[in-house]
This record gives sequence, C-alpha cells and structure tokens, in this order.
Amino acid sequence: MSVERTFSMVKPDAVAAGQAGAILAMMEKAGFKILALRMTRLTEAQAQAFYAVHRERPFFSGLVKFMTEGPIIVMALERDGAIAGLREVMGSTNPANAAEGTVRKRFAANIERNCIHGSDAPETAEAELRFFFNTADLL
Ligand code: UDP
Ligand code: MG
Repeated sequence: MSVERTFSMVKPDAVAAGQAGAILAMMEKAGFKILALRMTRLTEAQAQAFYAVHRERPFFSGLVKFMTEGPIIVMALERDGAIAGLREVMGSTNPANAAEGTVRKRFAANIERNCIHGSDAPETAEAELRFFFNTADLL
C-alpha cells in the first residue's frame, strides 16, 4: 500500500454530543496523522455543494438540514491506504450494519445522523480536501 491522504469530517451530531475528542482518538489509534484540522459551520449552499452527488436522492434535503445544524470539524488525514482505512474505522453508513469497534457502531444514532464523513475514492478525497483546505494547509 502507499501513503495516501483522505478527507474526514466530524458531523454536527457528534460535535454537539461531545464525541469529537473520542473520534479523533480513534483516528490516531488507527495510525492516521492529522495534517490539518479546523472547526467550521456549513452554509446551506456549501452543504448542497459538498453532497451534490446525492442531490437527486430522497434524503438530500434532510441531509442538508442536518449538516447545517451546527459546527463540524474538518480534517486532512494521512496514512498508508488512508482512503479504505478510514472507511473501515468509520463503519457502514447505517450504524445498524456497522462492525463492532467502528465510529458509527459506537456513536451513530441512525443512517442519517451517523457522526462522521470519509472520502470514498482517490478522486473524491482530492476534491473534498480542496473543498475545505488550501494547498498551503496541506504541505
Ligand atoms: N444518508 C441518509 N440516508 C440514506 C443514506 C445516506 O441520510 O439513506 C446520509 C448519511 O448522513 C450519509 C450521507 O447521506 O453519511 C452520504 O451518504 P453516502 O451513501 O455517501 O454514505 P457515506 O459515504 O457517508 O457512508
Ligand atoms: Mg459517501
């Protein structure tokens, strides 16, 4: 495997519940280096743009509402096989199907309010890192 970068976000439910520290600790324990990290809050337009791939799905408007309800923490992570590795640490989209020990199994309430985002491929990782971070943040 090769060293990769990926994008992750602690979603508004987990930030509000005070779970961000525990989630970051899980990332570090899984061997991720935190290259950049920031707390921010999405506008409606930003949430719509970030999740544009899902705009035709029935859950889109609910997802945008959820993602704009409070602060999020965005981060750039680096590790060997970071993209697939992060998806493993996150667990399945629906926490009912998530494996023991994953972030979503531990903390997520349901398929919508599921605590964490992680890029799903090299192209989306690049685009999502660019969405939130400047070149200089990632050096
Ligand atoms: N989502 C939802 N209902 C669904 C599927 C997804 O509300 O039936 C939300 C959920 O917050 C999920 C996000 O939309 O994390 C993006 O969906 P995707 O299928 O990309 O899941 P992920 O990559 O986050 O596991
Ligand atoms: Mg996804």
